[in-house]
Amino acid sequence: MSLAEITSRIRKAEQAAGRAEGSVRLIAVSKVQPLDRIEAVLDQGHRLFGENRVQEAAGKWPDFRARHNGVEVHLIGPLQSNKVKQAMDLFEAIHSVDREKLARRIADEAQARGACPELFIQVNTGEEQQKAGVMPAEVDGFVAACRAMDLPVRGLMCIPPVEEEPALHFALLAKFAARNGLDGLSMGMSGDFESAIALGATHVRVGSAIFGERVKPA
Ligand SMILES: *Cc1c(COP(=O)(O)O)cnc(C)c1O
Repeated sequence: MSLAEITSRIRKAEQAAGRAEGSVRLIAVSKVQPLDRIEAVLDQGHRLFGENRVQEAAGKWPDFRARHNGVEVHLIGPLQSNKVKQAMDLFEAIHSVDREKLARRIADEAQARGACPELFIQVNTGEEQQKAGVMPAEVDGFVAACRAMDLPVRGLMCIPPVEEEPALHFALLAKFAARNGLDGLSMGMSGDFESAIALGATHVRVGSAIFGERVKPA
């Protein structure tokens, strides 16, 4: 698979769903990929990337940004409250806001800076014990709490359980977003981004289908 093929599959999925061309943004998930593979995707003109660890992103993106204009990096993995400042230096968006304490830290820091990354609230649609994200029953209250802190909530994000039909989770996330007046939906990965687009994804997070299998586990 290549960047061009993924992009063309996204355009086809947009069309099939009757959605405007370019309404879906492709986040190329570059975690644990060798630097030369990332460089190759940058050289093809792609500018939006996703990382799931603050430390790992800090080790490579300042340098890539110095050499390529217009780069945007989104945090798609868990964020500890004590890394909020660093994350706000590194990322244009955070897709993993999932608890009050974290939201509060981001709000305080945003106040101090007069700027804030776009935020997605992660929802644990499968109600899995080990997984991050607010529980479905808490979504509306948490969105309201974030808005009360003046946080720029762009939308919702989910990672469906591996053994379940992802479309059910995408549909659920879209329903939660709609009833909260949100139209940003961060959902869909290498194996299911077309289904996510059919159900309203605005941001798909695709790693291995662009870069090849990750060389070490993420
Ligand atoms: C790694 C990761 C992806 C990309 O997964 P692929 O299956 O390689 O496309 C998407 N979202 C999150 C949160 C990830 O951690």
